[in-house]
Amino acid sequence: MPDGTGRGMGRQRRGNPPTTCVCPKCGKEIEKTLGVPCRSMKCPDCDVPLMGK
Ligand SMILES: [Zn+2]
Repeated sequence: MPDGTGRGMGRQRRGNPPTTCVCPKCGKEIEKTLGVPCRSMKCPDCDVPLMGK
């Protein structure tokens, strides 16, 4: 049985994480709360989940 060596090493995301969430509806930008996914926040105007910028 082959032992999948070299797997699970594809995590090289060292770029800057998004610090702003944007409303997909009105484009409003809201400062991201660290550790809180944008999708769990809502636009105060549209009441829709935000997206990462
Ligand atoms: Zn909005």
